[in-house]
Amino acid sequence: PIQPMKYVWMNGAQVPFEDAKVHVLTHALHYGYGVFEGIRAYETPRGSAVFRLTDHINRFYESAKILMMEIPYAPSELVEATKVLVTDNEYPSCYIRPIAYLGYGEMGLNPLTGTTDVAIATWPWGAYLGEEGLAKGIRAKISSFKRHDPNIIPPAAKTTGGYINSALAKAEAIKAGYDEAIMLSGQGYVSECTGENIFIVKGGVLITPSDASGALSGITRRTITQLANDMGIETREAQLLRTDLYLADEMFITGTAAEVVPVSSVDDRPIGTGEPGTVSRELQRRYFEIVTGNNADYDHWLEYTKG
Ligand code: PMP
Repeated sequence: PIQPMKYVWMNGAQVPFEDAKVHVLTHALHYGYGVFEGIRAYETPRGSAVFRLTDHINRFYESAKILMMEIPYAPSELVEATKVLVTDNEYPSCYIRPIAYLGYGEMGLNPLTGTTDVAIATWPWGAYLGEEGLAKGIRAKISSFKRHDPNIIPPAAKTTGGYINSALAKAEAIKAGYDEAIMLSGQGYVSECTGENIFIVKGGVLITPSDASGALSGITRRTITQLANDMGIETREAQLLRTDLYLADEMFITGTAAEVVPVSSVDDRPIGTGEPGTVSRELQRRYFEIVTGNNADYDHWLEYTKG
């Protein structure tokens, strides 16, 4: 279970961890009508810093807009509340989970009459796909579960209910002995993993599936694309087939929780040599350097909790 923290922010107040509870008739528990974010704070030489906090909070509001949910706070209030919470919970490195959901009140499917509750929780979270995965790469498998498309559960919104799909794919992959699942779009193109975006390197070009494949517009993906551009690496969004993955020179996946993780094989075909490639390694190295406050060129992405 998640290690208890001092406080959870709920509807404008910091409440003790033990009291941060919801009613069994919470609308979102029944119908999955909610949106959330996943953010990380890292310990840096200048104290705790939340990586691209404002970008994450902005995406949170975009998700809410898609679901026609009204978050009764300004984005700047949630940015500030997050910084205070991270400070008060006393873990300079932690995962941060803002969530807005239809709470206790009306039942039935009409979401427009519901009450929107907002909460922010934090907890310490190590390497999501394991330290060995970060170092050596993970084994992935194409899932039999497709990624939902913009006319089913819009993938541009990070919805709580939408993750049933990811959880089904994850369980299937784990049961089959793999680390992670790769989902294809309804049209059969590579979309993303259960909680990570996908990149391949082919002929020196860094390629990621376009949003039309149903991939979330990941903030780590944007970060990696920017870093690659700054390194003079050509980047491209494209429609990828599963065989493009099998034949890639390198492959890695990105996400706030997972960070930057090489993929050693897809459907038991080794990617490249089967070892993390040089481009993947360098981007991973830079990512960790930046989030931990050790690269002044990208300091604007760090939102320090104090000062
Ligand atoms: N895809 C999905 C389905 C995700 O849940 C996540 C994690 N939020 C990502 C991609 C990666 O997004 P980010 O880099 O913004 O964490």
